[in-house]
Amino acid sequence: MKIIINGIHANLRFSSAHMIPCHQFCGGIHGHSYHIDVQVEGERTGEFGFVVDFKKVKEIMRDICKKLDHKVLIPLNSAEIEFKNLENSVEFAIGNKEYKLPSEDCCLLPLKSTSAEDLAEYMADKLYNSLKVDGDKSKNTIKSVQICVNEGIGQGAYFERKAD
Ligand SMILES: [Zn+2]
Repeated sequence: MKIIINGIHANLRFSSAHMIPCHQFCGGIHGHSYHIDVQVEGERTGEFGFVVDFKKVKEIMRDICKKLDHKVLIPLNSAEIEFKNLENSVEFAIGNKEYKLPSEDCCLLPLKSTSAEDLAEYMADKLYNSLKVDGDKSKNTIKSVQICVNEGIGQGAYFERKAD
């Protein structure tokens, strides 16, 4: 059985700026009004026969969205970004373009890029790790979580994180 949460209707949304280094059109800082669609597949369990409580999934996803909302998303593991300072401000260069941004305006992410694809993998991992039951594997009834990071209406990257 699978539960499905529609990010527009369930308000799993955030607005952020990013750039795709060295990309012809997406290399400049630009923004998206993102929304996240979520699916969780697994066995029905517990007193109510839920796959997982919708409320729990929404809380986890809202926390993730809140962290990214109204920030410039910066991928710390980018091969193209040369970081110069991460203390009080975030300073870096991409080729001959130099940037200096206030730390509070940035969300630093342990990613190679902040493409919809990489954000989908990141969020699916986070959600799966938050939902899974550690220790007793037989109690971990989640088979997979699926995340679609939409950069707007009708355009998104979908990633499925299967259970360990
Ligand atoms: Zn973009």
